[in-house]
Amino acid sequence: MKTYIPNKFIVDRDPERCIQCQVCVNQCSFDANYYDAEDDEVKSREENCVGCHRCVVFCPTQALTIRKNPLDYRENFNWRPEVIEDILKQAESGAMILTGMGNDKGYRVYWDHLVLNASQVTNPSIDPLREPMELTTYLGSKPDKVELDSNNLKLKTKLAPQVKLDIPVIFAAMSYGAVSINVHESLARAATEAGTLWNTGEGGLHSKLYKYGANTIVQVASGRFGVHQNYLDAGSIVEIKIGQGAKPGIGGHLPGEKVSSEVSLTRMIPQGTDALSPAPQHDIYSIEDLAQLVYSLKEATNYEKPISVKIAAVHNSAAIASGMVRAGADIIVLDGFRGGTGATPKIIRDNVGIPIELALASVDSRLRAEGIRNRASIVVSGGIRNSGDVAKAIALGADAVYIGTAALVALGCTLCQQCHTGKCAWGICTNNLTLTKRINPDIGSRRLANLLRGWSLELKDILGGMGLNALESLRGNRLSLRGIGLTDTELKILGVKMAGD
Ligand code: SF4
Ligand code: SF4
Repeated sequence: MKTYIPNKFIVDRDPERCIQCQVCVNQCSFDANYYDAEDDEVKSREENCVGCHRCVVFCPTQALTIRKNPLDYRENFNWRPEVIEDILKQAESGAMILTGMGNDKGYRVYWDHLVLNASQVTNPSIDPLREPMELTTYLGSKPDKVELDSNNLKLKTKLAPQVKLDIPVIFAAMSYGAVSINVHESLARAATEAGTLWNTGEGGLHSKLYKYGANTIVQVASGRFGVHQNYLDAGSIVEIKIGQGAKPGIGGHLPGEKVSSEVSLTRMIPQGTDALSPAPQHDIYSIEDLAQLVYSLKEATNYEKPISVKIAAVHNSAAIASGMVRAGADIIVLDGFRGGTGATPKIIRDNVGIPIELALASVDSRLRAEGIRNRASIVVSGGIRNSGDVAKAIALGADAVYIGTAALVALGCTLCQQCHTGKCAWGICTNNLTLTKRINPDIGSRRLANLLRGWSLELKDILGGMGLNALESLRGNRLSLRGIGLTDTELKILGVKMAGD
């Protein structure tokens, strides 16, 4: 029996415009465009097109249009084309279906059902062009109370280590190996320029990026790739990765072909071998075990750096977060189910985990109710798309947010979901030496820094419009939010009132 899966896209090449320059042939890393020498003509293999738009952007005569193929199945809401095709693929291969990026299903995006307040008449708004606006955020455990010396001039209380951010937006963990060195360098340089942080992910830190250590979060994941004393010393925060929103409960797998000599050196594994991250951290089976690792890392870094613990947002995140704080985490990171990844089983990505908005609200409420909210900063990720989402996350209780997909989009990503293939046409999720050159760190870092600058201007505008001159006044201020089109239960979990109330 032959499996027939219709092409996802149609490549329209306008013969009037096409000059047969073959730019599209060279740009497409999926072989969807080719030169037919016999006919002396550029043609398309539509079955290979993934809709990444690289050829459309680079065609000098705008001769190309990529269209969705109107699939010829009979309409069936339950048995959608994607469902049928996944079954066909598995009937053929007997394998799991892998994909990249985050959950793209139509679950409710709560950010789009929350609106922010603005000042009118009684508490005047503030003009951010004329008044100073404060976005500074400090990540780290805060004391229950502070004491001053007898002259009330100096702080007597010894503060836990704090890391200062000029904007509450951090670049999310993306490992070297999953993304190229040029992406890491772009992130590191942009974070340094913008006064924020980037995160190594679980693949270690390339030797040429140690100079950006003050703006780097170094991750310690289950595979312990690239973890050594110099690595821990290099970062300003050490993050223990327990889970990831795109694949809660699942480990990672970097195929051997992506483990180049540079990746192997950084990860401290042999070249060409598969890098397998176990699903659990094999030394953590309880909150007490977590506490041991937290304090081992504090010990190893002389109690000079905050220790962060990252989990995927799941059903009992609030109880887990409470345990994490009691285990000594200075920062807790919650990664919602829309978080991206280089590779994940599709069935996990689309069906496991919960939206970050609900996880954040429930964790913040729980820690407040237990009187321990001050002991750890909360950082959230998994679907933060713009500065409006950032402001809403802060109002729901976050101290800062991570952005991963948004940062990659700034670098050219078109969310084609082919990251797991290692053929990213935009040179992002690949270690192919020709493709990685498509990201120039000079340009990449500029674009990322621009994105953060744009968001910081917008955040100041949002704050000013609310009559606030500091982000601190918005943090956890759920009265500044209202819900639209939400049920009573949803409003209760989010801790916000209905619009109009
Ligand atoms: S890049 Fe554009 S002009 Fe050049 S061969 Fe392809 S379609 Fe034709
Ligand atoms: S990183 Fe590359 S392969 Fe992955 S979704 Fe973006 S454009 Fe596609």
